[in-house]
Amino acid sequence: MLVAIDGPAGAGKSTVARAVARALGFTYLDTGAMYRAVALASTRGLDEVEALDIQFDGDLVLLNGEDVSSIIRTPAISDQASVVANDPSVREALVAQQRSIVARGDFVAEGRDIATVVAPDAEVKVYLTAHPAERARRRAAELGLDPEDVAAELLSRDERDSSHGRTTLRAAPGAWELDTTGMSIDDVVDAIVARVGEAQSS
Ligand code: C5P
Repeated sequence: MLVAIDGPAGAGKSTVARAVARALGFTYLDTGAMYRAVALASTRGLDEVEALDIQFDGDLVLLNGEDVSSIIRTPAISDQASVVANDPSVREALVAQQRSIVARGDFVAEGRDIATVVAPDAEVKVYLTAHPAERARRRAAELGLDPEDVAAELLSRDERDSSHGRTTLRAAPGAWELDTTGMSIDDVVDAIVARVGEAQSS
């Protein structure tokens, strides 16, 4: 079974998707980490996405065998990730890898285009949103940064992520749109787990 969780930066996708995967005993796939790894490689002059080996080992992200889990979370790499994500050849290569990963078992896959592009036939599709100020506040708390700086960065990423005809900031047909503003993480996780339970029994 596949649970697809999409939505804009700061909507709480990673925390929620990880917790949903844990609750269900599914494997968590963080597709943003793959774009981030490609972005890091590009800052090192490695532009050939096909030549990159991106692997997950538990919570670790490995790029050509190197643990890059922390370094890919910096604001500079966040920004660069949304730039490389506009390259159709990067998207094509990563989408192909993501399809082959989720075919291996039960997954909660989180990103921007899981239900629209990677796996339109996912059994459960969730589109998580939150008010922009709430998204900035959450991201700032996570990174220990100033909410106003984070708000500006999120806005420019949102713009880039919705440009160039990309389908990355749109709910898929049939997706359940869940506005998490004011909701606790636990409530969001419980609501999604309940949806999965309904899908499993139908
Ligand atoms: O989700 P995260 O913030 O880690 O994603 C980093 C960037 O990677 C996003 O801003 C977006 O540009 C890109 N991305 C994407 N498609 C995905 C996941 C992430 O384009 N499925």
